[in-house]
Amino acid sequence: MSGKVLPLAAALAKFGVKADADTPGVALVTDEGKVSPIVKEELSRMLFVEEKLQSGPVRLTAKLVPGTTLLRVSAVQTVKDDKVYDVDYWCDNCQLFVLSPGPCKCCGGPTVLRETPTK
Ligand SMILES: [Zn+2]
Repeated sequence: MSGKVLPLAAALAKFGVKADADTPGVALVTDEGKVSPIVKEELSRMLFVEEKLQSGPVRLTAKLVPGTTLLRVSAVQTVKDDKVYDVDYWCDNCQLFVLSPGPCKCCGGPTVLRETPTK
């Protein structure tokens, strides 16, 4: 699914809904203009905490929770100049990546957001 990830209040504002600015959550606004709030869990957490991912176009591998408009994300990619990048978190110390923000699962040290051109 292609689109942009926006804070839920910003996504609702496009429909003239003035939700409180501190409304929790983010939503995917698809290229077709559909809005799907995103379930916060391991593989989507980066979309909630990284403002960087809330500005540019993204591609999400995601499925709707049956019977709802809520999206469960299984992979996050960014798009820049028509190139697609896989997004993960990198520990330079261990030379390992993890798929959600937070300390390295191996050494407990810091990880940094990484965008790698998709092969
Ligand atoms: Zn580490």
